[in-house]
Amino acid sequence: MRKKVVAGNWKMNKNLQEGIELAKEVNSKVKAAGTKEVTVIIGTPFIHLSEVNKIVDPTVVAVAAQNCAIEASGAYTGEISAAMVASTGSKYVILGHSERRSYYGETDEILVKKVQRALENNLEIIFCVGEVLAERESGKHFEVVKSQLENGLFNLPADQFAHVIVAYEPVWAIGTGKTATSAQAEEMHAFIRKTIAGKYNQQVADNTSILYGGSCNAKNADELFSQPDVDGGLIGGASLKAEDFSTIIVARAKH
Ligand code: PEP
Repeated sequence: MRKKVVAGNWKMNKNLQEGIELAKEVNSKVKAAGTKEVTVIIGTPFIHLSEVNKIVDPTVVAVAAQNCAIEASGAYTGEISAAMVASTGSKYVILGHSERRSYYGETDEILVKKVQRALENNLEIIFCVGEVLAERESGKHFEVVKSQLENGLFNLPADQFAHVIVAYEPVWAIGTGKTATSAQAEEMHAFIRKTIAGKYNQQVADNTSILYGGSCNAKNADELFSQPDVDGGLIGGASLKAEDFSTIIVARAKH
């Protein structure tokens, strides 16, 4: 059975002290909400990982990095390896976010290597895919997402793919306040599941959590999560407010 997941992506927000406060608030709100059926993850900046892992109850909130290096270790000034992420107690890493793809030139080839590093260090992966507006407008969105899955993930054998959560994030919806309709999200999520079934089998596809990301907030989460193939959300802006984030988690628990 696939998991219901709500993951926050703090991006480059909150200094260490602010991050600690937010993590404490999220932890206590989620605990109080009693939404045990939802896997809650917060994706913090690297420097927060160790401290935030000390604060949160791991049975309530898990912690993710937002990236990791391609290389295992060595002379790569400024990089953070998957092993370093794992050593902070973090269980997840977000890979392939559209901001990493577009601002830092992360190609499918780079992502294949990062996925390997993450798996070698027993990290679970939240792997982002999604089309830009021009691709949707020209009807290429299915093709684009299929190619991101094929080129970034489908080299994995099924037992490794089991450690992947897919996040469908239409780039035109990220941070824009323009959310995909629940019908658009469902259509793409069903397509992603079908594509996974075609590569592996139906059981693997049914066990894969597929999250929606892109201006998902406390108001629209309920409608998005009512869709059968939307297993949860990857939440940017709204994850920076504990109240909104916990409302989204409660919405996920409801369906
Ligand atoms: C994201 O960056 O993963 C994201 C979904 O951002 P937002 O919710 O702010 O659109």
